[in-house]
Amino acid sequence: MINSFDFVSFLVIKQLCSLNYVNLDCFGKDVLKIVVSQLKIKNLNMSLVVVGSMAFDAIETPFGKSDKIIGGAATYIAWCASNFTPVKQISVVGGDFPQAELDALTARGVVLEGVQIKKDEKTFFWSGKYHLDMNTRDTLDTQLNVLENFQPVVPESYQDCESLMLGNLVPSVQSSVIKQMRNRPKLIVMDTMNFWMEIMMDDLKHTISLVDVLLVNDSEARQLSGEYSLVKAAKKIMEMGPKYVIIKKGEHGALLFHENEVFFAPALPLEEVFDPTGAGDTFAGGFVAHLAKTKDISFENMKTAIILGSAMASFCVEKFGTQRLTEINAEDIKARVASFVQLVNFDIELV
Ligand code: AMP
Repeated sequence: MINSFDFVSFLVIKQLCSLNYVNLDCFGKDVLKIVVSQLKIKNLNMSLVVVGSMAFDAIETPFGKSDKIIGGAATYIAWCASNFTPVKQISVVGGDFPQAELDALTARGVVLEGVQIKKDEKTFFWSGKYHLDMNTRDTLDTQLNVLENFQPVVPESYQDCESLMLGNLVPSVQSSVIKQMRNRPKLIVMDTMNFWMEIMMDDLKHTISLVDVLLVNDSEARQLSGEYSLVKAAKKIMEMGPKYVIIKKGEHGALLFHENEVFFAPALPLEEVFDPTGAGDTFAGGFVAHLAKTKDISFENMKTAIILGSAMASFCVEKFGTQRLTEINAEDIKARVASFVQLVNFDIELV
């Protein structure tokens, strides 16, 4: 019986169970074991590998100032994406990074096998100050520390992933992860920032040429392409390699470009924006997790993904650092997505 049991039988049983036609109790122990293992396989295939910084941040906004708090692109992405799909993290921290923070991610189901801990070194540190409009900020300090010589190693157990999220990090480190994957993931999404455009443009362009989707904010899109018009900028960036470009415009939403198509998702108008740090990473986490979970990388599904990304980013800005992301649950997310649908839904009679 076990030998003849294959994935198709598994799907049939699963479907019958979900329709309440049969009860799993009527199958023997061996069959149940296989059902469980198939469920695990399915789960693994959905998994998402996330690469990026894990950091200490010091943030100043018009409404307050934080001491050194937990930040980093990959930290925000993992907190967000793990609401939707299993996450396997690749990063590096120093001996000063709190074990409790790593444990909290583990408890959340984030696999940390690919996170290196350099006991005698210091964690990456970034400090930024937001202007009054909260849409623009100045970087006050960037101390690469452990990031300076980071050589990521992709664990064997990460090789099965179908989706790869390259969070903000040294471009050559991002590309080294792609090279280590035995099979190219079906979807590679990349985020980056002006910092790398200023000091490593060639490396950055090489990494960009390897990915499917590039996320940048509006000023970065202009800097990268040399074009003021965001439509022209997106076209130039697509010529560099990515088939899709997302241009984030902070509280003014995000634009998704593909060939000659464009889609716009607004940002939820919030009464209070406390700290926009990590909103872009959280957006990326929601976007890529939805695609990883649904295994559908069509333009139509990407529209849903950027709505979900925007909904998740709207939580991030409500408190300092990752705080708000650690508090929310499935119900909160459902309600927030419903507010989004409400925001953009209207009937119109064409004359
Ligand atoms: P975001 O607000 O989405 O652009 O991301 C902010 C996060 O990016 C902060 O938590 C920082 O720790 C992290 N970050 C800032 N600069 C860099 C950099 N040069 N490389 C990697 N991560 C960075």
